[in-house]
Amino acid sequence: MKTSKCYICDSEIIKEIETDEHIILNACGGRLKSKKIMCAKCNTEYGSEMDAELASQLNFYSNALNVKRHRGKAQAIKGELSATGEKYHLQSDGKPVISKPVVKEEVEGEKLK
Ligand SMILES: [Zn+2]
Repeated sequence: MKTSKCYICDSEIIKEIETDEHIILNACGGRLKSKKIMCAKCNTEYGSEMDAELASQLNFYSNALNVKRHRGKAQAIKGELSATGEKYHLQSDGKPVISKPVVKEEVEGEKLK
């Protein structure tokens, strides 16, 4: 059987160093994987550096689109409405939640709203 070579370090990918590599980042919803792209060492290095950075930069879109992942959840994104100053979180399920709900009291005649 013909073996593949790691496209980063050119090592022959034998059983001992093969690893599942997502074609598109799982953090961005990628599900398709291959064991014939890169070796385990390069996958670990690139996963903790380039993939992590790319996932971090695309986190807003992953949250907004409620992207499903194989493992873990996206971190909530903190934001602030410039018009009101209200702080909110965009959760991993895509729902915006006010960080600190504000309670306002209004007096209308004898009624308190
Ligand atoms: Zn490699």
